[in-house]
Amino acid sequence: MTTQDKYVPTEREQAFLDTVENPKYDREIINGLAPFLEGRAPVEMRGFYSETELSILRDLKGTERDVEERMPVKMTRHYFTMAQKSPHLQRLIKASPDETMDLAGSEDPGFQMDYSPVEGLLHKYEMGLMYVISTCSAHCRFCYREELIARKEIERQDGTVAKKGLAQIKDVTDYILAHNAIVAANGGRHPDSGREKLREILLSGGDPMVLPNSKIAAWFAALAEAGIESIRLGTKEMAFHPKRFDEAFLGMLDRFHETYPDVGFRLMVHFNHPDEYLLKNEDGSYQENENGTFTWHPDTKHAMDEIVKRGWISVENQAPIIRGINDDPDALRIQQRALKRVGVENHYYFCGRDIVAYRAFNVPIETAWNILNESQKGLSGVENHARLSITHYKGKTEVNAVTNEPIPGLPGSENGVVIFKILRNAADAKDRGKVCIVGRNPEALWFDDYADRVLFDEAGLFDYTRVKKASAETPVAIGAAT
Ligand code: SF4
Repeated sequence: MTTQDKYVPTEREQAFLDTVENPKYDREIINGLAPFLEGRAPVEMRGFYSETELSILRDLKGTERDVEERMPVKMTRHYFTMAQKSPHLQRLIKASPDETMDLAGSEDPGFQMDYSPVEGLLHKYEMGLMYVISTCSAHCRFCYREELIARKEIERQDGTVAKKGLAQIKDVTDYILAHNAIVAANGGRHPDSGREKLREILLSGGDPMVLPNSKIAAWFAALAEAGIESIRLGTKEMAFHPKRFDEAFLGMLDRFHETYPDVGFRLMVHFNHPDEYLLKNEDGSYQENENGTFTWHPDTKHAMDEIVKRGWISVENQAPIIRGINDDPDALRIQQRALKRVGVENHYYFCGRDIVAYRAFNVPIETAWNILNESQKGLSGVENHARLSITHYKGKTEVNAVTNEPIPGLPGSENGVVIFKILRNAADAKDRGKVCIVGRNPEALWFDDYADRVLFDEAGLFDYTRVKKASAETPVAIGAAT
């Protein structure tokens, strides 16, 4: 960090921070492939990779197809236990040689760095997203933050190349205060970018739940003091180590709410598949409760119940649809019902991004739409809220519809069309609701695969001009990390 000034908490913040407890959490993490390759993994885990798998992965070490160079390997004991009965979870957590067969893809999908006015902060919409940590308790092989977790160097819009840095409290809060002051002085919109007040911040990474409670609390309090209305925390810890949601963490949330009662909190959980939290019988079927609903793992259920019963917290699930993991309408139908039943909203399913090696993981866009649509047949109206989103660099875009029939009189629609709709425009709100219609391409994994069949594009999804530098509002006296 080059920032000179340290962040100084207010008295109110400090009084809250003084109440926070910081227990240590033993996730029994197995880090890397080495414990398996060298026979050092705990005895009961050794068969998790077959000898054939280990032999191929060993041969790839040190080559350009080394899977650990692309994405570090990491697993918790809890996830290992759940994955033993689930080929889907194994696909999520186990390194596989096919990951590096085709390394095509972007190191900065969606030109995310174009929206980074301060190191570690992306300012999109009326929201900010912060990288507060560059690892998780375990690592999903498909992770679209692989460049952050593997600490790769990324090209910035100005041509410089550096690892993504993590957000620092003083830099971020200075930026929020400066942006919001300009917006307030200009009648509610920034005079250059047209953006509104920055009112919501997402703590992301990596997984913020890897941080100690004191660090999470320090972020929460500083954001609350800076006038943020709602804080989100994106986590897969409920799947990787649900015991992390213990009395000390919940107590921290309660003290935070007592101190800042007007600040909302949204826990953005990440479940890909019901095998991550439902108990299974020996034959692979889900264990049932008396009324035919499925039985949750007690640790996950306890964690979820404790969060949900705090009515001021909303819990939302969002997850990508990934080949071999959850590209299955039946699994997603069970998931949407099971989550809603315990109080979790089904927010988004995502098409995989065009990250490095995306061809190993992504399901074609039209297939993903069909899977989600099929999964929602038979769900009640409150269970089927989830939309299929694909994150274009211009903003969050819904894959709104896929038709099987041509549109009469529209050349190029002979095989049907795909309709995209902009849900949120990253730079400001003006393009919300605009659509783009393309002729179908069942093999398409990304927008590029439709470039030769665009029929109508009021949304501008096929205009690849990057955002102008002027829209990144850099306030004075903000230092850049690294
Ligand atoms: S939990 Fe999220 S950030 Fe962490 S490895 Fe998985 S997808 Fe990536």
